[in-house]
Amino acid sequence: MHQDVSEILFSEQDIAERVADIGAAITRDYKELAGPAGIVVVCVLRGAAMYTCDLIRAIDMPLEVDFMAVSSYGSGVKSSGVVRILKDLSSDIHGKHVVIAEDILDSGLTLSYLIKNLESRGPASISVATLLRKNTPNQADVNCRYVGFTCPDKFIVGYGLDYAEHYRNLPYIGVLKPEIYQ
Ligand code: 5GP
Ligand code: MG
Ligand code: MG
Repeated sequence: MHQDVSEILFSEQDIAERVADIGAAITRDYKELAGPAGIVVVCVLRGAAMYTCDLIRAIDMPLEVDFMAVSSYGSGVKSSGVVRILKDLSSDIHGKHVVIAEDILDSGLTLSYLIKNLESRGPASISVATLLRKNTPNQADVNCRYVGFTCPDKFIVGYGLDYAEHYRNLPYIGVLKPEIYQ
């Protein structure tokens, strides 16, 4: 285990199993509905990159993958509440079935904003597949159709999630020691 991590919450194998389950659920829910056009999986950069790569390989139907980057945290650990689009989608989602792949839902501000923003583009539907949902007090009411794991209200790193751009390459999900960011 990395010396800056106090506890492993989900092992590489736990993650692989849950991501496979989510992929199977998405396939079941969308295969007929979306037909040959398939779905658009929107990866929220950068935290959800690793998850998205694994998730799309667990979805057995036609799909496109597109990427969006939003800022909400900078390099700190508290949500600023201000969401800004740093990189927009490359393709038009009008009339498409969209599944947003997000790494973690904390305050819920980022996803609330993203859903509203993408809805204004006239997709056929939008759902959210978040890998982690944190037990955060006063979390915004975000409808997540697919949730990988719920996790404690601590600062989490690994499997794509960073602190100041580090730790994304850890193959597991763990709790960052508070002394690292305090
Ligand atoms: P929210 O807007 O829901 O408060 O936070 C959304 C974003 O903040 C997440 O997509 C993620 O990028 C970042 N975030 C929230 N909690 C954590 C955490 O525990 N660890 C890391 N690495 N990022 C987090
Ligand atoms: Mg994120
Ligand atoms: Mg981050």
